[in-house]
Amino acid sequence: MIDSHSHTFYSKHATGSVDELVRASIAAGVKVLTITDHAPFAVDSDNRLLEAELDYYFADIDRAQQEYQGQIKILRGLEFDYMPGSESYNHDLMARYELDFAIGSIHYVEVPGNRMVKVWELPRLAGQAFLDRYFANLEALLESGLFDAVGHADTLLRGVSEEVVLRRLEPLLPLFARNGIAYELNASGIRKSSLDLESGHEIHGVWSYPSRALLPQLITHNAAFTVGSDAHDPCDAGAGIRDMLNALLPLGLQSISYFECRRRIDVPLDEPAALAVGQSNQKIILQ
Ligand SMILES: [Zn+2]
Ligand SMILES: [Zn+2]
Repeated sequence: MIDSHSHTFYSKHATGSVDELVRASIAAGVKVLTITDHAPFAVDSDNRLLEAELDYYFADIDRAQQEYQGQIKILRGLEFDYMPGSESYNHDLMARYELDFAIGSIHYVEVPGNRMVKVWELPRLAGQAFLDRYFANLEALLESGLFDAVGHADTLLRGVSEEVVLRRLEPLLPLFARNGIAYELNASGIRKSSLDLESGHEIHGVWSYPSRALLPQLITHNAAFTVGSDAHDPCDAGAGIRDMLNALLPLGLQSISYFECRRRIDVPLDEPAALAVGQSNQKIILQ
């Protein structure tokens, strides 16, 4: 199993040390784990790494790489926030640290004449002004050339109909392959709440994202895919990835990717149960 999106206590709203996350991931059958805590960003300091913590964060990852060598491959990642104007800050941050994987995610959207909307404020997601700005920012993220993958691009499905999200995403589909940025299949949409669009009530236990209707279109446009649990607690290590892949394989998903030293490594998925084959001589068994 490959898990390319995970958090530790360095993200502040997540729990568990690097060591605890790694041990839980090994127990869950993860063979390639990328730790992607939220990178420093001006919008807040309570939900992310601080610049002063980055050295400790990467030292913890390096220590775990040594300690668990042979049991799991551990990679150095960060989940960056993207807003227009953040390019040079994010670029400078990436230049200072050796990273395996850089996710670009949109969590905050500045809507004109409004306060900042966060993508977990579910009742606000279907507003036209929000949608206009979200997808404009997503296009800018995809064109920025900064990131290896876009994180949970379809998280709006927690509060917006699939039809609307698909229509808005359609013009952006060619940008993934053209700009060499992968589309993340984020398994946290399987366990997160969503809005029942008829009643407006928040409901649990319903798969909101990733979009199963979008997947074949992304495949047609030659997009590459990363997968992640987006665990914020060691007890969610690897959560949902197996179920998600089993559901997506019949829809035409043929390979997933992860990044090492910012280079994409494609892992073909041969069969639903024993998905195998890695790079060169190395075999990675996905269970
Ligand atoms: Zn995120
Ligand atoms: Zn995340």
